[in-house]
Amino acid sequence: MPKDNLGAHELIQKTLTRIDPTRVAAVSKISANCPPKRLKIYLRSITGESTSRAAIKAMCQHCFGWEDLDQPCTSYGCPLYAIKEGIRPKRVKRIFTEGTV
Ligand code: SF4
Repeated sequence: MPKDNLGAHELIQKTLTRIDPTRVAAVSKISANCPPKRLKIYLRSITGESTSRAAIKAMCQHCFGWEDLDQPCTSYGCPLYAIKEGIRPKRVKRIFTEGTV
């Protein structure tokens, strides 16, 4: 096994020992399909050690099939849409008060 994969495997195993057993199967499955460059932030989000913003980014990357987030999201009903698309808090406030984007 290449050194990078061994590091990723160890990182996954270490994380799996630290989370609630009810989450292990799901996290293990997602981790197995997560590319190495996305794995660290994904696992830090899983254990609650990332910032909220990083966890949101990890969620969106997962949602995008681990692709780069350079495409606009078209899931307009997603609660994370405004954050993913970088809409500023002031603008988010306007969405809720005036119903416009
Ligand atoms: S904002 Fe878009 S990319 Fe992010 S989780 Fe929601 S639907 Fe997925």
